[in-house]
Amino acid sequence: MTSETPTRHDQHGLYPEAGTVEDFRRNLATVQERIAAACQRVGRDPASVRLLPVSKTKPQASLRLAYAAGCRLLGENKVQEAFGKWESMQDLADLRWSVIGHLQTNKARLVARFASEFQALDSLRVAEALDRHLQAQGRSLDVFVQVNTSGEASKYGLSPEAVPDFIQQLPVFSALRVRGLMTLALFSAEAERVRRCFILLRELRDRLRQSAPVGIELDALSMGMSGDFEIAIEEGATVVRVGQAIFGARPLPDSYYWPTRPDPDTPQSAAD
Ligand SMILES: *Cc1c(COP(=O)(O)O)cnc(C)c1O
Repeated sequence: MTSETPTRHDQHGLYPEAGTVEDFRRNLATVQERIAAACQRVGRDPASVRLLPVSKTKPQASLRLAYAAGCRLLGENKVQEAFGKWESMQDLADLRWSVIGHLQTNKARLVARFASEFQALDSLRVAEALDRHLQAQGRSLDVFVQVNTSGEASKYGLSPEAVPDFIQQLPVFSALRVRGLMTLALFSAEAERVRRCFILLRELRDRLRQSAPVGIELDALSMGMSGDFEIAIEEGATVVRVGQAIFGARPLPDSYYWPTRPDPDTPQSAAD
């Protein structure tokens, strides 16, 4: 029964460090097997789920091992860190970058330069800045709108109620190719509460699809990470963002590189 799939948050911080290409191959294969098993439980084709390896906090040497094991798209949540890695890994011409963390408007220029995907769009100001810099460089960018499905004030993302209006504003930004929605579920060992976040995102996507402006695709659902991606897949994830289960545990606590919103008392609006 899929509703009994547990989270794996008990593994958080315990994944062994991947130090060789073999380690990466094995970890990637294990994650792909878990993806396939989750797909099988709900009758989905494993090819409908894209694995995005998340390399944040890991040194360039580890990223190069991941590349040697076959990774061609890496997820990073801090722009400055990602940009630095991109600059020093120019020799790997077919390696692409996905920025998956909150973006300040003043860093949009950097993202426009090197990223091929941005998964944390949650304000018109950032959309406008990205579009302007992308146009100037003759580039375009795949984007996901980040939605706060857990209701936690500390999480970035638009409230589900704000998303329909927000989506309507996006067609003017022609360098942004809107692919779908992204979320971070509640971080909890209670699988049912985690699952509810994923269901909310899927249902929101399904409703939005009926009213989406021309040119706005809403096929993709980016949801699920090392501790909960099987549940996310059971609920329709088309992209899972997996760090620790591939690279190994990160040296610092999550709070260090997973910044929370500065002013949790003010609900975020699409305009800020
Ligand atoms: C770090 C991160 C992940 C991956 O988390 P793991 O626990 O390492 O799998 C997924 N999504 C976002 C937005 C992240 O910042």
